Amino acid sequence: MRIILGFVWLLVVLVFSYACQVQELPLPTSADNAAAVRAYLNKLGYADSLIVDAGEYFVVEGDMRFPKDRKVPNLTGALEEQAWEDRDALIERYNRIRNIRVWAQPEIAPIAGHVMQAMQMWNNAGSSIRFVNAPNRFDRDITIYNGTIDGPDAVGESNLPLLGKPGRDIVLDVAKIRVMPDNIKKVLIAHEFGHTIGFRHTDWRRFGEPNSVDIPAVPGADAASIMNAVYIVSSNSNLTGLSAKDKLAVKALYPSAPYSLYFDPTSIPVILRWKGPYHRIAGFQIVHSTIQRGIEVDNPVFTIQTSDGRAGSYTFRYRRCACTTGGGLLNVKVRILYTDNGVSPWSAMASVRIQ
Ligand SMILES: [Zn+2]
Repeated sequence: MRIILGFVWLLVVLVFSYACQVQELPLPTSADNAAAVRAYLNKLGYADSLIVDAGEYFVVEGDMRFPKDRKVPNLTGALEEQAWEDRDALIERYNRIRNIRVWAQPEIAPIAGHVMQAMQMWNNAGSSIRFVNAPNRFDRDITIYNGTIDGPDAVGESNLPLLGKPGRDIVLDVAKIRVMPDNIKKVLIAHEFGHTIGFRHTDWRRFGEPNSVDIPAVPGADAASIMNAVYIVSSNSNLTGLSAKDKLAVKALYPSAPYSLYFDPTSIPVILRWKGPYHRIAGFQIVHSTIQRGIEVDNPVFTIQTSDGRAGSYTFRYRRCACTTGGGLLNVKVRILYTDNGVSPWSAMASVRIQ
């Protein structure tokens, strides 16, 4: 029995048009770039009245910091009307998602143990995210500085990812944090790490924070989220780590492998659906096995060159070609092909009986 499956077409649902690719701007002078960073923040929905000028950087929403010397995406292209949780505000390379190198200044030493616990919170959430200690100060993605943070409730500031890279800086007010209860120390630090991988505030509507997008996998309010506004987190003495929805959310953004493979039993031709990352990817690889003379045979892996799915949902359509001579059980599994050619583990197997 031989079943040959042909690839007809892939249903690609675009969330945003990337016809205009985001391009890195040449490094401008620092004076020029402060204006560019402010313009970028304006473009994202922050009026000048919401942007705090703190010398070498701007601060928005109380704890998100934008250094004036950083490159910003091309404002004339794809960012028109996009939200923060778009694909430029998530990490995309597999060898970075799996190895986010964190370097802490020596002044962080009094709370270094809590920094490590905060990293472990995210590492143990079941997603592909892994924070690690940087091997040296030259090979680092995130730098943690000690700094004085103004305001009675604010104890830290950090960046969102830009251009597929983790947020670059975390500033922690060590003097304020070290006198807090241990559980609050680690969740507040974990909150800042959450921004560096693309999380906005869970309760953004309460404060009218612009251009946030809900993560569809986790609808509804979540009082236990460590990504609520900082003063909400610090006033909740029961918090000890990520909430159940925080974990679901990071697994939706950065799943360790494709999941929820599903054959639509009513569709002809066969349609396979699954869930995958929200960030930009190179595509997926698919392998299917068939039973030939009673022996299960893996067919060659083939690659779909696609990257966009609505809220991480993807669809692939098969058809049987004319040479199919009989029915059989089709077993399929899928893995993620990242933009740096990294591949995820295979998904669980899904099966469908071809009549
Ligand atoms: Zn925050």
